[in-house]
Amino acid sequence: MPYVKGKKVNPFYLSRSWKDKRLEILERDNYECVMCKSEGRVTTRNDAILEIDHIQELDDYPELALVDENLRTLCRSCHNKRHKRFGFTPKKNKWADDERFD
Ligand SMILES: [Zn+2]
Repeated sequence: MPYVKGKKVNPFYLSRSWKDKRLEILERDNYECVMCKSEGRVTTRNDAILEIDHIQELDDYPELALVDENLRTLCRSCHNKRHKRFGFTPKKNKWADDERFD
């Protein structure tokens, strides 16, 4: 079972400039998950843990690490979805296909 705890953390995430930038992006995005927002949901830090996502991943584009356009606020669940970091396989809801949205 993959897990994040205990995983090696890029020292970048501990840097002062990242901590400042994180706050800047959170404020820019009004402390809301932008992915939830695009689906019409409001997810704030009262609802979930908010994380900052690198659209072009840090490992691939370290030069974009602090570029505003490459950063966005995501809730943990969207962030995990985006990186396909599931610690488990969610059970498929057997009724899901029966739903009708007429
Ligand atoms: Zn979200």
